[in-house]
Amino acid sequence: SLAKRNAVVTGSTSGIGLACARALAKEGANVVINGFGDPAGIEKERAGIAEEFGVTAIYDAADMSQPDEIAAMIAKAEATLGSVDILVNNAGVQFVSPIEEFPIEKWNQILAINLSASFHTIRAATPGMKARRWGRIVNMASAHSLVASPFKAAYVAAKHGLAGLNKVVALELATFGVTANCISPGYVWTPLVERQIPDTMKARNLTRDQVINDVLLQAQPTKEFVTVEQVAALVLFLCSDSAAQITGSNISIDGGWTAA
Ligand code: NAD
Repeated sequence: SLAKRNAVVTGSTSGIGLACARALAKEGANVVINGFGDPAGIEKERAGIAEEFGVTAIYDAADMSQPDEIAAMIAKAEATLGSVDILVNNAGVQFVSPIEEFPIEKWNQILAINLSASFHTIRAATPGMKARRWGRIVNMASAHSLVASPFKAAYVAAKHGLAGLNKVVALELATFGVTANCISPGYVWTPLVERQIPDTMKARNLTRDQVINDVLLQAQPTKEFVTVEQVAALVLFLCSDSAAQITGSNISIDGGWTAA
């Protein structure tokens, strides 16, 4: 059980992050929910988690592209809950374009959210984890931290960078009871995947069905999407005592994609 543990999950108003926040709360952890979206919908989700699982759930609107807002979120979590024991760096965005047309601002935004934000959260949360000699850092990477696809220059670069950062953090914290691991999902059916279908149709001149079957599921030998609940279950395992010796690893959950 994760009772008395406090967790921050970035980008947890949707998709994988929301499933992780719910799974952690179900195990008894208090959770900080973060991300964008309709305020009424977010509040409904927050209150629902608190009520359903009997935990403290707070919402922090910090923009993961803003280092000062990230530091303030970790400080607020520590002040309100008493500690940050579990940090799930999950917020992420995608943009699909040939490199010669790749907008410079999109490159900068994706590097900021998908890579630098994790540096800033880890930097802020590490002193407390070290002092308490317990911590779990889970970085939501991607199959694209291990292999590439065309038209995803910023995303692939950021996720490869995140996998490198993860290894450094694991080594620095190894003797402090703090683990750091990447999870690398293949295609998970979430709004992030749904939103990239139109641009992929354009970039590759394909229909919607062709993108789903010939581009997305083409990469995945099982020919099935990963579910958000399956990813959340892996996060829970990495937070358990059984996973105390798993650190610095990058665990694939990709239907066999990166075996091919
Ligand atoms: P999603 O779009 O459903 O959710 C992304 C979350 O990040 C949302 O809560 C959104 O509000 C938040 N977010 C975006 N920009 C933010 C910002 N600047 N500040 C704070 N929050 C911000 O996406 P998802 O599919 O659930 O993806 C979650 C993570 O999993 C991402 O890091 C993504 O790269 C990774 N991932 C997803 C897949 C997939 O197939 N869906 C595969 C591999 C890895």
